[in-house]
Parts: sequence; structure tokens; C-alpha cells
Amino acid sequence: MPALYDVIVAGLGGMGSAAAYHLAGRGVRVLGLEQFTPAHDRGSSHGQSRIIRKAYFEDPAYVPLVLRSYELWQRLERETGRELLRITGGLMLGGRDSAVVRGSIRSAEEHGLAHEVLDAADVRRRFPPFALYPGSLAVYELEAGVLHPEAAVHAHLDRAHALGAELRFGEPILRWEARGDGLSVVVETARGRYEASRLVVTAGPWAPRLLENLSLPLSVDRQVQFWFRPVAGVEPFLPGRFPIFVWELEDGAAMYGFPALDGPDGGVKAALHHGGAVCTADTLDRQVDEAEIARMRLYLARYIPLLAGECVHAATCMYTNTPDLHFVIALHPHHREVAIAAGFSGHGFKFTPVVGEILADLVTHGATPYPIDIFSPARFQV
Ligand SMILES: Cc1cc2nc3c(=O)[nH]c(=O)nc-3n(C[C@H](O)[C@H](O)[C@H](O)COP(=O)(O)OP(=O)(O)OC[C@H]3O[C@@H](n4cnc5c(N)ncnc54)[C@H](O)[C@@H]3O)c2cc1C
Repeated sequence: MPALYDVIVAGLGGMGSAAAYHLAGRGVRVLGLEQFTPAHDRGSSHGQSRIIRKAYFEDPAYVPLVLRSYELWQRLERETGRELLRITGGLMLGGRDSAVVRGSIRSAEEHGLAHEVLDAADVRRRFPPFALYPGSLAVYELEAGVLHPEAAVHAHLDRAHALGAELRFGEPILRWEARGDGLSVVVETARGRYEASRLVVTAGPWAPRLLENLSLPLSVDRQVQFWFRPVAGVEPFLPGRFPIFVWELEDGAAMYGFPALDGPDGGVKAALHHGGAVCTADTLDRQVDEAEIARMRLYLARYIPLLAGECVHAATCMYTNTPDLHFVIALHPHHREVAIAAGFSGHGFKFTPVVGEILADLVTHGATPYPIDIFSPARFQV
């Protein structure tokens, strides 16, 4: 006789750990299942740092969600006594007509967010490491900052456990099935069978496999995170002097980066956003070769010359992209007892706490007060 739970959470990475926490906080009997270890580095939620920012260039619809996320991150910090979010300020850079600059201004204006629009001379004066090209603009946001993803996943998992969730690691899910009565699901793992009234699928880059019957148009790509040592000392890159940034470049690529979070001896993290090789979570090539490092150094030499020093570390990660790069968060179109969260398209981490709250709403009430229409899988006719 399989054990009975209210909700099973399939995958305990960024989103699943948050869902388990919010569900357990509502007194729900939760079983969380994860194939690897807590806060592992084989999916999408690792690598020391993630950007959080409010003036969301991707679409103003995200702003209420990110504002709620700030509140929830701060609540989680209070509950755990850990630093998860560090405010550093943030620069969104690009040409006058770039999506990054125009979109940031639009979201800031529509939602009345504090921001400054800087021209190239302002940026050079205030943030000397950036070598802006002619015609560039920047949007500066004081409250942008850095999240620590591994610490954040641990914090959600620890709180979920403390609130009564049962969390099982090293236990891959082989398949799941909705019973068809709208009331129960069965999940089969390498170690056993479990039954619950509801299921939350938060499988990150493995979503194409755990949601294979849904045919969502998800495409996984390989992304490399680099840590470079500044050529003339780390001082210009220390937090307080150097902000997080996202920069839409002349060739259409986008680069992002962080202040020096490891002090004088560590590297400074920078990477390209999108444009990685298509892969699957199981075929990802985790080796980073010299040609990739050389290519990233060329970008840095052109745009942040002081950072184009030795590459001290590089690590792969995966994006799970949808065609329009907007998330998928909804009840499963064919099984109303299942909620899904996938396709975070390289910008989901900042939202993990509010996504956890939305998933908890969906499986406990069948609906959420948050505006999630743009995340509907119906836009893909699935
Ligand atoms: C290089 C890089 C930089 C990024 N930068 C930012 C940023 O600056 N700001 C931002 O907001 N976002 C950023 N993102 C995106 C963000 O990190 C992701 O959107 C987010 O981490 C996705 O979380 P997830 O829970 O969907 O996936 P994951 O955290 O990968 O979690 C999925 C979990 O499901 C488990 N799982 C899957 N299948 C099974 C199975 N069959 N059985 C058991 N367990 C299973 C996996 O092991 C994994 O733990 C970045 C991503 C990358 C890769």
C-alpha cells in the first residue's frame, strides 16, 4: 500500500524547493523527490550568484511578481538568519533602442520604480570599467542585486523540512501517472511508488522528459559561467563600486556580470546570456574548452577591458527556453491535479519564492491571485 501524501513535488531545485516550503507552510503533507543532492550543480540553480532586478525589460507583467519575490526573499532571510540577497545596484546597458534599455525604462515608468537613465559620459564617470560604445544608454536601478542560489535552495529545503515536508534525495522519478479520477496521482521512483492527491512538476531542464506527454516546445541549451581575474586589481569591481549589469551588445549578444563577491583573491563572474549549444540535461557537455574562454575574453577586452585577465574558473549550466522566453506556470492542461513550472528561459531564479507560492496556490485552491496569464501553456496550443 503506497504512502499517502497531499502533494508530491517532483524535482527540488530552485522552483521545487520553494514549492515544498510554501506547501509545508500551509500545513500540507508534502513529499519532495529529487534525483541528486540538495543544491547540486547539475541543473540550473548553481554558480554562486543570480541577478535580481525590478525594472524588468522582458515585460512589465513580471514586475508585481518580482516585487513579491523581494518580500519573500527577505522573509526567508529572517527565518533562516542567512544572507541570500545582497543589494548592489544594477546597470542595464545597450543602444538607445535596445530591448534592454527600452524595456527597462518602460517597466520602471509603468510601475513607478526608482531608476536613473544615464548617458555614456555618466556611466564612464560613475562606473569606469564599462567601455560604452557610441550611442549607448544605461538604466541604473539602486535596488538590483545578487542572490546566492545554493544558499537559497538550502534555505527553502531546510525550512520545508522544519515545517514537516518529507524530502528524499538521490531518488530519480521514473514516471508519474494521474489516476484519471482527478483526485490522485502515482509517482514511481527508482526506490518505490508514492500516491498523492496532487503533483507539482518542477524538473528544470529535465522537464521535457517528465512532461513528455504535453509536447511543450522547450529547448535546453548549454550556458557557461566564467570567473575572470581583473588585470589591475579587484578594487574597481568590489561591491559598492561595481554593480550587477546586463548589456545588450552591438552584435546582438547580451552579456551580464556581477561585482567581485569573493574579495581580492577571487574572480569576477561574467557570461553571455543565451546563444549556447542546444543539448539535453543528460547530454550536456560539462567541459569548457580554451576556445570558449578565449571568446569570452574577447568580449571582455572590448567592453570591460580591466576584466580581461586570467580565467580562474568556468562552469556549465542549462537554460530551458520557450519560443517567446516567457515561463510556463499553470495547471497541467490535461490533468487538473497536476501543476507545472518550466521553461524559465534563463531568467527564473529571482522569482523562485513567488513561483513556489503560485504553485502552492494552484494545487491547494486550483487558482492563484497572481497575474500568470502570460505563462499559460495554451499559447503553444498544447
Ligand atoms: C548560467 C545561468 C545563469 C542564470 N542567471 C540568472 C540570473 O541572473 N537571474 C535569474 O533570475 N535567473 C538566472 N538563471 C535562470 C535560473 O537559474 C533558472 O531559471 C532556475 O534556476 C530554474 O530552476 P528550476 O527549478 O526550474 O530548475 P533546477 O534548479 O535545475 O531544478 C530542477 C530539479 O529537478 C530535479 N529533477 C529533474 N528530473 C527529475 C527526476 N526525474 N527525478 C527526480 N528529480 C528530478 C533536478 O535534479 C533538479 O534538481 C540562470 C541560469 C543559468 C544556467
